[in-house]
Amino acid sequence: MLKGCTPWPKEFAARYMAQGYWENVTLGDMLDRSAWYFPKREALVGTSPVLGEVRDTYADLRKKVDRLAFHLLRIGLKPLDRVILQMPNIPEFVYIYFALQKIGAIPVMSLPPHRLSEVGYIAQHTEAKGYVIPSEFRNFNYLELAKDVQAQAPTLGCVMVAGTEAPSGTVALAELLERPVEDQYPRDQLRSLRPEPTEVAVFQLSGGTTGRQKVIPHTHNDYVCCCKFSAFRVAHSQYSAFLASAPVAHNFSLTAPGLHGTIYYGGKTVLALNPDPETVLSLVEAERVTYMNGVPTMIINWLNALEGAHYDLSSVQVIAGGGFRVNVELGRRAKEKLGFNIQQNFGMGEGFHTCTRLDDLEEVILETQGRPLTPGDEFKVMDDNGVEVPVGEMGELWGRGPTVVRGYYNAEEHNREAYGPEGFYKTGDMVIQDDRGNLIVEGRKKDMINRGGEKISAEEVESLIMGHPSVLTTAVVAMPDPVFGEKSCAYVILHPGKTLEFEELKEFLMNKQIAKFKLPERLEVVDELPLTSVGKISKIELRKDIAEKLEST
Ligand code: AMP
Repeated sequence: MLKGCTPWPKEFAARYMAQGYWENVTLGDMLDRSAWYFPKREALVGTSPVLGEVRDTYADLRKKVDRLAFHLLRIGLKPLDRVILQMPNIPEFVYIYFALQKIGAIPVMSLPPHRLSEVGYIAQHTEAKGYVIPSEFRNFNYLELAKDVQAQAPTLGCVMVAGTEAPSGTVALAELLERPVEDQYPRDQLRSLRPEPTEVAVFQLSGGTTGRQKVIPHTHNDYVCCCKFSAFRVAHSQYSAFLASAPVAHNFSLTAPGLHGTIYYGGKTVLALNPDPETVLSLVEAERVTYMNGVPTMIINWLNALEGAHYDLSSVQVIAGGGFRVNVELGRRAKEKLGFNIQQNFGMGEGFHTCTRLDDLEEVILETQGRPLTPGDEFKVMDDNGVEVPVGEMGELWGRGPTVVRGYYNAEEHNREAYGPEGFYKTGDMVIQDDRGNLIVEGRKKDMINRGGEKISAEEVESLIMGHPSVLTTAVVAMPDPVFGEKSCAYVILHPGKTLEFEELKEFLMNKQIAKFKLPERLEVVDELPLTSVGKISKIELRKDIAEKLEST
């Protein structure tokens, strides 16, 4: 396994293989297998500004991927090279993602809202060789960003652009996709580059726990396992049509079951470029979508849109909600409107997942986040002293299993904190296990804000705010929000005689080039901050304070 990553201990790896969780199959093999079984079935539907509307069969998809893989070798990419993908939901994402898989290079899953602060750091930390971007998306110029990232990360030699404009020094993806492969068809060469399934397939980024983002190395074996079981839990088959409306780079849309799980079973993936209800619901109708997923904010928007207009959603069999708790009221409303229950999912980039089963009792589906994905998963609910609490009591969830990675990339010190004895990952989520074995997510121990599924590390934003000359100290906490569930609020104490306006703070942070969703959405200037008995800032008190303030306005 790549240096800097933690493999599963031998006895666990042997067990996961013997019990069939791991199949010794790579993500590239998975595509080849479906192309072999279902060459004429539709695999991918999507649009991009350059390619227009795309409709690929499995045979088409495989051919484009293999051709691109061959060209990637020609332009100098090699096995285990890291390549940052920062792409919207366009077909080029799928082509380059699988082409990288075919040559054993490692895609690093950045998201479109990331800016220099995030991408620059990730490029340095992963020593990325390549960076794939649109030229422009949602009025943001990624070409400019790429120049800044290159200035920070000397390893980053190859910028590939999915856009109408690919300036000199960059590679136009569309041109590579078009360029014929001279000589012999490269399949044999690609076969010789097939990575070991125990090797890293993808670098996923952590949702934000402490400080900077952590890099999560997923192997082929664990990612294939995750997508296979997630797809099984939603009864995927070659007749399934998955609509990806959240970023396809995120675990939920990539592998739970997402793009991977749909390919595993030979179904069709439909990419929505924008998550607005009009785009999404029209695609559901036109493509006869059977499975879709989203964070609660998105599901609420879809339900609201259905109040005012008619869309034929009769093909839909499962809507999966996750990333944030789907509360009972939303579940009931969805059932009333759609005639079926929202499947609950709880999971994280590090790979531990739970979900409700389609045939669970209604109360289980409405009130819990279900059970672990595979029978090979193990979990404990722990108190602050590292002692397991009884069923029915709240504690921190610790998990391990065939889909849960054993350590972050190049983060030895952090790994010692993030993992308990015997390789259990400490999720930082507070849960209760009910007497049927279902988990209910009650809150969080980790210092993170969950803004409608987008995760914000409080510590990261606090350290930036501390750079403002007027600020003496700060604490960033979650405040309740009816649409996003949570937004972030910054409490600050100023240096004597200084002032700070909210707009000024936002501008200061924007100049640090951070993703916009990380900006605080309220500023509270105070004279003192409440402390815990051990003298730390009490975020519990601050969350209570801001919730009360919002309640009373
Ligand atoms: P990410 O790694 O971005 O997927 O974020 C993972 C985190 O999102 C988890 O550790 C939880 O804190 C939160 N999360 C995910 N799903 C749920 C859910 N269904 N209910 C509550 N929190 C969730």
